[in-house]
Order: sequence, then C-alpha cells, then structure tokens
Amino acid sequence: MERALSKRVGRCEPSATLAVSATARRLRAAGQEIIDWSAGEPDFDTPENICDAAIQAIRDGQTRYTSVGGTPALRAAIAHKFHRDNKLHFEADQILVSAGAKQALYNCLQAVIDPGDEVVIPAPYWASYPDMVRLAGGEPVFLPTTLKQNFRPTAEQLDQAISPRTKLLILNSPSNPCGAMLHREDLEGFARVLRAHPHVRVASDDIYELIRFDGVPFCNLVQVAPDLSDRVLLINGVSKAYAMTGWRIGYAAGPKDIIDAMLIVQSQSTSNPSSIAQAAACAALLEDQSSVPDMVAAFEQRRNYIVAALNELPGITCLKPDGAFYCLPDVGEAMRRLECPSDIEFATLLLDQLRLAVVPGLPFGSAEHIRVSFATDMPTLEEGISRLRDLLD
Ligand code: PMP
Ligand code: GLU
Repeated sequence: MERALSKRVGRCEPSATLAVSATARRLRAAGQEIIDWSAGEPDFDTPENICDAAIQAIRDGQTRYTSVGGTPALRAAIAHKFHRDNKLHFEADQILVSAGAKQALYNCLQAVIDPGDEVVIPAPYWASYPDMVRLAGGEPVFLPTTLKQNFRPTAEQLDQAISPRTKLLILNSPSNPCGAMLHREDLEGFARVLRAHPHVRVASDDIYELIRFDGVPFCNLVQVAPDLSDRVLLINGVSKAYAMTGWRIGYAAGPKDIIDAMLIVQSQSTSNPSSIAQAAACAALLEDQSSVPDMVAAFEQRRNYIVAALNELPGITCLKPDGAFYCLPDVGEAMRRLECPSDIEFATLLLDQLRLAVVPGLPFGSAEHIRVSFATDMPTLEEGISRLRDLLD
C-alpha cells in the first residue's frame, strides 16, 4: 500500500543550510578536522547580561505559558526598539513574537497565501523562502539579479514580475546569502511600483539590520514609504545581532489584520515561544547595546580578510558584502577547471577533499556560486583559504 505524504511536502526540500551544518557537525564528531564555513550563526556566546536575565526569569517562576503572541514586556521592548532604531511607532497589538524570525515568516505565509497565489522573491534569496511559500500552497516567482548589478533588483524588474496573482513580495536587506543591501533609492523605486499594484503586500525580513559595515545606513520600506505601512510586515529577531540563535525569538510588526491572522496560526500550532527566552530577549533589546558593535567590528575584519583572499584565488570572484555575515563568490571558472558540473558537486568536492564545508549556491537561487559564512574565527578562515589555494593553484 502506498503511504502517501502530502503533495505540499513533496514539493519541498529540507533546509540546505541546516543540512550542510549538520553534516559538518557529524564529521567533526567523527574526529575529522572540518573547517566550517556553512553555519549561519554568530560564533560568539550570548552576552552575559542576557543569560543572567534568563536565569532570573527561571528563578522568578516565569516558566508558564505566556500570551500566544508574546509577553506584554517583550512586546513593549520590541515597540521601544522600533522607536529607538527606526523611528517607527507600533502598538502592542501590531506585534507578534515567534520562535525565531523563521516562524514569524512561516506564520505570515500561512496567514496570507492561498493556493495559486504568487510570491515575488528577489534572487539570490534565503533558501527557506521558496519552500515556505510552497508549504502554504503558493508559487514563488523569482526576480533574478546578478553580481554585476550588486545583487540589487531594479524597480522595472519588480514591475515585470508582478501579476494579478501576486500576493506578496519578500525583501531581505542586508541579504542572506550575498550581504547586499537595498539603498533608499531602491526602496523608493519599489514603493512607486507597489503604489501602482495595491493588491501586493510586502514581508520585509530585516533580521540582519544591525550587522552592517562601512557605515552603510539601514532603512526599510516602511521608513522610506510610510504611506505603505498598512501593506508592509516587518520581520526581525534577536538571533543574529545578539548571538542568540538557539534561544528562538523572532518577531513581526505591522498591519493588524496580518498580525491577527498570524496569531491564529501560532495559537493553533506552537503557542507562545519559550517564556524564558522571551525574558532574555527583553534584556537584549533594552539593556546595554555595546556587545553589538563589538561583534559587528569582528565580522567586518573577517569580511575584509575573506573577500580579499577569495578574490586572489584563481577562478573565484566575490562581491564585498555591505552587511550580514555571508558572501557569495562566483565559482564558475573554478568549477570548470576542476571539471565540476555544478556548484553542488563543487561544494561536495570541497567537503570530501579539503574538509571545507560551504553551502552550494543553487538552494539560494544562485547556480555556480557558493555561500560562505564568515561568522567564524580568523584561524578558521585562514585555514580554509590555505586549503582552497592548494586545490586551485
Ligand atoms: N531570515 C534570514 C534571511 C535568515 O538568514 C535567518 C537565519 N536562519 C532567518 C530569517 C531566521 O532566523 P531565526 O529564526 O533564527 O530568527
Ligand atoms: N539563517 C541561517 C543560514 O542561512 C541559519 C540556518 C537556517 O535557519 O536556515 O545558515
């Protein structure tokens, strides 16, 4: 008898980023000297004041269910963050706390997308977006960008990608996997297009907001086009900026009808995120912020090293990222020299021959590239470069 699984799941792959990181961990546990450039998480420990807040929450008995959408204290802290960092005002009922920005995005797609709806996604994109769209029954529509255009889509491209079936546009700046940032002029162009297409809403994934280099300013679509605020959901979280990936706290803020629908999804699936992690996230957002620039300075130093070193290798070209902690080198020429038919085989070869773990570009919509995470220490970056040089020279 055929044991059928849902067609929705059949259209999806497991997360490539998590899969490569899991393989790297497994090989390392088996005693191999793996250089891991795959993990999309800071290598720093969570700052001590944040850990202390969690321990205090346990001692204070904050160990029960909270409101589905987050404690009043954390929602107030998130409203404070938006006011402090973005000069935006949100009421508590416009904010939802989830188990990571990942769940916030998932809830959003479940809340907004019907079967057959289209979601426009600029490529390269975070590998989870298309499959989250498919799990909601929707169709991803990709908006390809190239290294030559600095991976920044144009307003004309967006206009052409929108159809009567388009329900949502997903923006992500700074970007995973390439670190590109949307400039104010890019967002102004998108706003003009969106005004002409009132049926399209936007999910703005701002999870890397605080990780930026060279003083490049951050802005999102709501800041640039406040008239669109009833159509834009902002998604953010504490995982990346505060080295809190394991705590699982993300949040969304925006139109109340979307937040209310996301609350229904969350109340019928996971309920509230961890009460203890919520207390820790309050401390992250409200207390001393000095750990953030310290970590960003370390990421910037590593970026400077890795991008220069990659560009010196034969057959590799890499754009300098403005933010996040990834770069996305074009390895097409290196692949051909080594007779690798695709970036998937190239990444497999790096793992098998060099014990160097990277994520292939294809799951990010970027064939012939690899994604490199530089959220790791300098010796790990230097050793990876030395192994790559031996292979390619
Ligand atoms: N968006 C992007 C672009 C990401 O890279 C990540 C990292 N996993 C997330 C969202 C989700 O982060 P988290 O669930 O840890 O908050
Ligand atoms: N965002 C990270 C990455 O891209 C974490 C893994 C994930 O959630 O996919 O590697």
